[in-house]
Amino acid sequence: MTIESIKELILHMTFILFPVFIYQTAWLSRPFKSPPSRNKTLIYLLCAPSAILCITYPLHIVDDLSFDLHSIPIVISILYGGPLSGALVILTVFAYHFYTGGYWLLLSMITIPFYIILPYYLQRKWFFYNKQRKMMFILLIGNIKTAVTYSAMYLTGTLGLTPMIFTGNNTITLVLDWLFLMSALFLSQYAIEYIRENAMMRYQIIKNEKLSIISELAASVAHEVRNPLTVVRGFIQLMGQELQENEHKNKDYFELVLSELDRAQDIITDYLNLAKQQYFEKEKVSLSSLLIEVDQLMRSYANYKTVTIETKINSDLVVYGDNPRLKQVFINLLKNAIEAVPDFEGKVFIRAYSSHEYIRIKITDNGNGMTADQLERLGEPYFTLKEKGTGLGLTVTFSIIHHHSGTIRYQSSVGEGTTVTVSLPIQSDVQ
Ligand code: ADP
Ligand code: MG
Repeated sequence: MTIESIKELILHMTFILFPVFIYQTAWLSRPFKSPPSRNKTLIYLLCAPSAILCITYPLHIVDDLSFDLHSIPIVISILYGGPLSGALVILTVFAYHFYTGGYWLLLSMITIPFYIILPYYLQRKWFFYNKQRKMMFILLIGNIKTAVTYSAMYLTGTLGLTPMIFTGNNTITLVLDWLFLMSALFLSQYAIEYIRENAMMRYQIIKNEKLSIISELAASVAHEVRNPLTVVRGFIQLMGQELQENEHKNKDYFELVLSELDRAQDIITDYLNLAKQQYFEKEKVSLSSLLIEVDQLMRSYANYKTVTIETKINSDLVVYGDNPRLKQVFINLLKNAIEAVPDFEGKVFIRAYSSHEYIRIKITDNGNGMTADQLERLGEPYFTLKEKGTGLGLTVTFSIIHHHSGTIRYQSSVGEGTTVTVSLPIQSDVQ
């Protein structure tokens, strides 16, 4: 063993392992919508050059005879890429041997058909075997390959077609060659299985995460929506029964029906907003006009609650963000402010201005305020003090602000009111 042969060994390991890592980078690292499938074309496209590189730069362990590991890409392409990929790699190897000439074409033609029998037999069920089983078969294939090659070489050597390698001096190198083949097989098989397992696990994790969120949401929506709908149903039933008796009672029922239906809609909107959190479409947004729009939108709700809204919104406030989402934020905050103030003499004050690198939006109300404990729980899913609240408005709001690299701060004292300050980074024109 010289430094030269160690270099060759390392180079050979690279030839064997590079397809595995390229396959991982190019194919298995993509985000999967379905379980990671095998890409047979890519397996061929990677195994063929790997085999050819092995043949081109062989190991010179025995002086006048070279060894190489091109059998590994062949076996791997059959087992992992299926019969066609395997056949194409074998054909490529034959073609390359034919092109380069020498006795290797003859040797390959004798040995390959023998040692691919078992891989071809196994490839159908290969993915159903466990790792230990696969490893056992791989090592068996390695031994068969060595036995077949050495017998063929003995035969051709005796016939004078290839140099005779079975001289007493070569025993150690022959054993080393066998050992090297086995360890290279072991290593590549190990790398492949490890990478496959990782890809599967990643896919499972992502899928489970999505599934659990969706099923949780679906379950809660179903649960929460059922109650108001039951109420609606009950009152409609009553209306039918008492239609002639008392006309003005019907009006009350109607209002109840409507408010319960509105509530059902609110809940569904909040849940859907929560479910849609991952998709943001950002653009330049004029916060000034957005806030004026929200103010107008909420006016009727404020009037209904006899709350007055005052605004002082500077013009030219521009942020980079998702327009509908930001609107959702200020609707939620304004709605909370309006709901917090007493029905009479309710006052909500909206201010928006730029300060340093940020745009600040302050919404102040003279409502019931919050204790320190309540302040701490803001944004927690399902935290609500309202009889008909969902406790999701601020969860959604906090998450949207977070996605805009902004912050939200509450100042509140019980009985006096609350000020909420949202800070969003300014979109400068340079960007
Ligand atoms: P919901 O409005 O459905 O209850 P939110 O997440 O919007 O859910 O708000 C959670 C809770 O925070 C409210 O129930 C309320 O008690 C409290 N809260 C939010 N904003 C204010 C405010 N401006 N003044 C007083 N309490 C507030
Ligand atoms: Mg709310």
